[in-house]
Amino acid sequence: MPNKLQIIKRQNSALHELNEIAAISDINPKETLRKALEIGKKYFGLEFGIVSHIVGEDYTVDVQSSPTETLFDGQLFVLGSTYCKTTIEIDDVLAITDVTKSKYVGHPCHRDFNLVSYIGAPIRVNSKVYGTINFSSAQARHLEYDKIDDEFMKLLSRWAGSFLERQFVVNEFSLEKQKFEMIFENNGSGTLLIDNSCQILMVNKRFCEIIGFSKSELVGQNAIIYYLDELSYQTARDKISKTDKSSYINMEHQLKRKDGKLIWCKFIGSQIELAKDSTTMIWSILDITIQKEMQEKLEKQATTDFLTELYNRRYFTSRLEEEVSKMKRDKTTRTSLLIFDLDKFKHVNDTLGHLTGDVVLKEFANILKKDLRKTDIVGRIGGEEFAMILPNTDAKHATILANRIREEVCNKTINIDNKNINFTVSIGLTTIMHDDINSDTAFARADTALYKAKENGRNRVEEYDKSYSSLPL
Ligand code: GH3
Ligand code: MG
Ligand code: MG
Repeated sequence: MPNKLQIIKRQNSALHELNEIAAISDINPKETLRKALEIGKKYFGLEFGIVSHIVGEDYTVDVQSSPTETLFDGQLFVLGSTYCKTTIEIDDVLAITDVTKSKYVGHPCHRDFNLVSYIGAPIRVNSKVYGTINFSSAQARHLEYDKIDDEFMKLLSRWAGSFLERQFVVNEFSLEKQKFEMIFENNGSGTLLIDNSCQILMVNKRFCEIIGFSKSELVGQNAIIYYLDELSYQTARDKISKTDKSSYINMEHQLKRKDGKLIWCKFIGSQIELAKDSTTMIWSILDITIQKEMQEKLEKQATTDFLTELYNRRYFTSRLEEEVSKMKRDKTTRTSLLIFDLDKFKHVNDTLGHLTGDVVLKEFANILKKDLRKTDIVGRIGGEEFAMILPNTDAKHATILANRIREEVCNKTINIDNKNINFTVSIGLTTIMHDDINSDTAFARADTALYKAKENGRNRVEEYDKSYSSLPL
């Protein structure tokens, strides 16, 4: 056990060192605080020293002195996971020699960070609690803290408080920084600051709500953490690197929240030079998932036929128009167009009712949907008229496919209200030609072939033939 004289000597020497560093004006404020932490660590015989800044539930490590690769300046913790929460609550020195033998056994700081001994005190700046100065270790301290330690801790916290106060007075910027932090934190859109290697420097409350990660899980991490995959992360980086430094970057991305839920976000970013030779990106993020879903729904509604869920006439025609234009550019490919018209469908409606007619139309649409290739396009272009574009398919292969559909329809029996219903379809076929003026001319030929199929007895496939051109269209 050290005797009282030794203790006082130790304290005097620590005080002396503290006075020394405060007097040196050529080291920057952070390094001054770090030196003070080193003095405290040596005095208490502990591994970690921290000056923290506490805002709400955010515990930020302003300055630390610790074994390498354990803590870093700017690191963020949730206040509740630190002994400092208790220090702030009791508003006094909190000293724990060995947490396992204290009333704090099971404290989150012991459970999560394995810190066994601790001493800390609140720091006041301009009479408001700024944060804490604290020292800790993963090992129990072999000496119980005594009254002198308590006093020394108080002295350190007063010293740190008045040091910071002076910094704030001397350096207006610190006050500005506090204002900036407040504006950043309370900005209504998600706000994110990342460096040029995509490391997250700062995030605000709203960003954390959008993305579902806490601040401490995001700060210091690479931005890839919230991207869907490597590809979308790289795409975003490419876009950023190609954008002129002076303009805003607008991006829409699907992101993955911590809970795995996918969301759509709009990013508006610009580059700022916070320090010389290093660019930082500041991003505003809006959650646009609801708008995206609504937009997709509206787009689907605008292009889809309600009854059969095939494309509607308008959308189908626009796709046919594209195929006709493509054909003009590439004359070597063959694309076929089929038009289907159910035979004697009026009769189905007249005898079985309109609702049964609708079921038959849906069943027919299902037959068309089957075995489609990704590139094939099917639409309902009229009441009981349908059409299909078959890219890269010549008339021969289109005829085979058309006959397969015709036979399937012919062999199908639909049972509705214990009534067996059979129906047939007639099909007109043409290939899109490079001299087609627009979709109308291709449609007209397929229609003519369909007319011929009806004329020749229905339940048939007819390919357009030049000799039909004398027929009325
Ligand atoms: P054809 O073999 O010559 O094609 O004879 P058809 O009776 O099928 O020809 P028509 O064009 O005279 O009749 C088409 C019928 O399709 C008229 C209409 O009652 C029916 N129809 C059109 N749209 C719908 C619909 O949305 N639901 C139902 N149930 N019937 C429809
Ligand atoms: Mg018809
Ligand atoms: Mg018909």
